[in-house]
Amino acid sequence: MMLNQLKELQIKFNEKIVNSSSRGDIEELKKEFIGKNSPLNSILQELRNADAQTRQEAGKLANEIKTQILNTINELQEKFDQDDLKLQLSSEKKDISLPGMNLSFGSKHPLNLVIEELSEIFSELGFEMVDGTEFEEDEYNFQRLNLPEGHPARDMQDTFYVNEKQVLRTHCTNMSSRILSKLSQTGSEIKQHGSVSFGNVYRRDVDDATHSHQFMQIDAFLIGPKISFANLKWILQYLCKRLFGDQVNIRMRPSYFPFTEPSAEVDLSCFKCLGQGCKLCKNSGWIEILGSGMFNENVLRLNGINPQKNTALAFGVGVERIAMLKYGISNIRDFYENDIRFLNQFHFFGN
Ligand SMILES: [Zn+2]
Repeated sequence: MMLNQLKELQIKFNEKIVNSSSRGDIEELKKEFIGKNSPLNSILQELRNADAQTRQEAGKLANEIKTQILNTINELQEKFDQDDLKLQLSSEKKDISLPGMNLSFGSKHPLNLVIEELSEIFSELGFEMVDGTEFEEDEYNFQRLNLPEGHPARDMQDTFYVNEKQVLRTHCTNMSSRILSKLSQTGSEIKQHGSVSFGNVYRRDVDDATHSHQFMQIDAFLIGPKISFANLKWILQYLCKRLFGDQVNIRMRPSYFPFTEPSAEVDLSCFKCLGQGCKLCKNSGWIEILGSGMFNENVLRLNGINPQKNTALAFGVGVERIAMLKYGISNIRDFYENDIRFLNQFHFFGN
């Protein structure tokens, strides 16, 4: 009786398995024929109470059938796995006629390229490079630079005040003030000292194509008993030729900065049209490039230096301005958005 039941089960399974074409079908069969509630399982349960002979005969057959079902199901599952793999491989087949993928190399940021170039020039000239604090005392950012409280240039509109006494530095000249103070504290006579400070500065500006609330500056000064305006002019001319080529010239126009007297705005002869007039120089043949001057006597005094014994030339360069000119960049925001397409243009400069 049991043996017949078992044989019928086996036949039924063999019929059904032939028509199974998916993993789902197989799962169903597995459940139906060898699952917890399957007839085969009930038979195996019943066998426990059957007589010894039935147990031996039917038990043997039941186990054989169970093993056969399991093996068949496993084989089919394996076949499905193989089919899937083949399908996947054929869809991922390599097309060797496709163009190769370029390896991507990093490139230096254009602002860093300019800073590196300027650093090189300045160190050749004997200047010391200093990296300063961006979070600065009002005293060093303003007061010691001849910008007392209430001075229009330190208007709340322009400065990020952290609290009443501290600001985000508005220029790198804060470091000039710190270094001058330090020099004066040594007590010994100053022979000659040149420093360059560089880094981020902050102004409360509305960001547009040519303005950014954060930008980079390089600020330099050279102090000594015999430093003159002629030295300033020589250094600036040398610097511009190094940056933009031997053909360029500079001109200096009287200007006003609170920490220098006299002060001069420096223009560069247009390196693109060589003075003929073009879009870059707005047809004037000249490009505004930096601010300069001799440190105001008050600045020297406020930092403990005797203006009768020492004079100092000073100038500040906007790093973005130089980079925009050198690399033909028209939007200052490009420097800060870190768009990889923009940065990748600088592969060939200095790498
Ligand atoms: Zn021009």
